[in-house]
Amino acid sequence: MDLKQLVSHAKEYGFIYQSSEVYDGLSAVYDYGPNGVELKNNIKQYWWRAMVQMHENIVGLDSAIFMHPTIWKASGHVDAFNDPLVDNKDSKKRYRADVLVEDHIVKIEGKIEKEVKKAMKRFGEDFDEEKFKSEHPRVSGYVDQITSIKSRLKETIESGDLEGLRQLIVDLDIADPVSGSRNWTEVRQFNLMFNTQLGNVAGEEGKLYLRPETAQGIFVNYLNVQKTQRMKIPFGIAQIGKAFRNEIVARQFIFRMREFEQMEMQFFVRPGEEMKYYQEWKAQRMAWHLALGTPEDNLRFHDHDNLAHYANAAVDIQFKFPFGFKELEGIHSRTDFDLKQHEDFSSKKLQYFDPELQENYTPYVIETSIGVDRMFLAMFSNSLVIEEVPDADGKSSERTVMKLHPALAPVKIAILPLLKNKPELTKKAKSVFDQLKLDFNCQYDEKDAIGRRYRRQDAIGTPYCVTIDFDTLEDDSVTIRDRDSLEQRRISIDEINSVVQKGISWPTL
Ligand code: ATP
Repeated sequence: MDLKQLVSHAKEYGFIYQSSEVYDGLSAVYDYGPNGVELKNNIKQYWWRAMVQMHENIVGLDSAIFMHPTIWKASGHVDAFNDPLVDNKDSKKRYRADVLVEDHIVKIEGKIEKEVKKAMKRFGEDFDEEKFKSEHPRVSGYVDQITSIKSRLKETIESGDLEGLRQLIVDLDIADPVSGSRNWTEVRQFNLMFNTQLGNVAGEEGKLYLRPETAQGIFVNYLNVQKTQRMKIPFGIAQIGKAFRNEIVARQFIFRMREFEQMEMQFFVRPGEEMKYYQEWKAQRMAWHLALGTPEDNLRFHDHDNLAHYANAAVDIQFKFPFGFKELEGIHSRTDFDLKQHEDFSSKKLQYFDPELQENYTPYVIETSIGVDRMFLAMFSNSLVIEEVPDADGKSSERTVMKLHPALAPVKIAILPLLKNKPELTKKAKSVFDQLKLDFNCQYDEKDAIGRRYRRQDAIGTPYCVTIDFDTLEDDSVTIRDRDSLEQRRISIDEINSVVQKGISWPTL
C-alpha cells in the first residue's frame, strides 16, 4: 500500500490522528488513538521483553526528559546537533541539504538496479552482478558517480563547508522535488533542539532543553545503576521514552516527527572489546526484527558513510517503507566519548572498577536505538494488505486485513453474538467476554451482519473472532475464526483462553 492509503487507514480505524486536528493540526506531531496505543504498547513490550527480561545483564531505567543543561554541552548537542538546511526561493519549501544529495544518490542507485535486473534476465544463471557493475560502461559510470558524490558529501559535512554543500547541489543540478525549481538559497546550520525556560530564571541561565535522545539520561546514571544493581561489565541499561527534535523537513507521517519515542539500550563494555559486542548486537537486533515475520527482503543493513563525532562504527537497520529503504534503527559503537565528556564537564569520576582486571577504566559503549513510531509505521506497512477471499456464498470478495504478528495485535479476540436482538445470545456473549477480558484485550461487537463485523476486526488485525450462536446455548461451544487462514472451527468455551494464549504468544528469539 502507498503512504496515503496507510495514513487514511490509520485514521479511519483509530490508530493515528493528526495532533490538534480541530485547529487544523500541528505539523509533524501525531496522537495515537485507541487501537494505535495498544499496538504501540505491544511494540514497546516486545522490545522490553527482548532486551530487559531476556538478558540478565540488562536493566531498565526511566530518566526525566529535563536534564541539567550542561549535559547537552558535554554531549556535543548544543554545538553540533545541527542539520544543514536550504530553502527553495520559488516554492518556499525547506529541505535538508544533505538529504537532497542523498535522495539524488538513491535515484542513481535506482538506475543501476534497473540495468542489473535487465541484465539478470538476459544472462540468467551465469550472471555475475559485481562483474557487470564494474564492466558495463553505463553502469560503472553510475557507480563512479555515486562514489564521487558520497566523498564530496562526506568532505563538506565533516568540515562544515556549507558553501561546498550548496555547490554540490548546484553541480548535481538537483531540482526542488515539488516545483522543479533550481533556485536555492545558501545553506545554513539549524540546531534541532527545542528549548524552554526553567521556573523564573531568566536568560541563558535558566535555559532547559527537551531531550533530543534518551541516551544521555542513561550515561549520566550509569554509575548509579551499576552500583545499586551491582552490575558487572559487560552490562546494559535500557530505556523507552519521548525525545524531541525540531526537524527541518517532516513530511513523511510518523517517520519523522518533532515529538517521538525512542527505545534505546546502552551496553557498557571493556575498551578494546567493543567490536565483538557491536557485531553481536547487530545480529541480535536483526533477529528481533525477523522474528516478527518481517520478510528478509524488507530489511537490510546500511553502514554509515559519515561517522558521527562520537562513533567508531555505525550501521542502520533500514526498512523498506512505502517511500523506499530508510533508517529504522541505529546501532553505534560510541566509544567512551560520552562518559569522558561527562567526566570533563562535571569534574566527577565516572570510571568503573573491573574486579577481574583489578583496574579502573571508562567503559566503551555499544548503543542500539530504535524509534517506536518508525517501528509502528514499519509494522503498519508490512502487514496491511488488500486480498481476495471467498465470502459466505463462496463468491470472491475483497478484504483489507492487517496481518500483524498476533502478539502485536491491538485486540486479541472479538466476541460476536450472532444476532443482537436475542437477549439469550447477547447475555451469553457478555459472559464469554467477561471470561476472556482478564487475560486479553477483547472487543464485544453486536452491531451489523457477522461478515461486516469480521471485516472490521480484520482491518485492525484481530487474530481471533468467536461467534456465539444458538448451538452455544445448547452445548457451550463457539465458532472460532482465524484471521489469516479464515478457518472456522468449533471449540468449547472452556478452551478459548488456551487456544488464544497459544496463538498470540511472543516470537521466540
Ligand atoms: P535520521 O537520519 O532519519 O534523521 P537519525 O540518524 O538522526 O535519523 P538517531 O539519532 O540515530 O536517528 O535516532 C535513533 C532512532 O530514533 C532512529 O533510528 C529512528 O528510528 C528514531 N528517530 C530519530 N529521529 C526521529 C524522528 N524525527 N521521528 C521519529 N523517529 C525518529
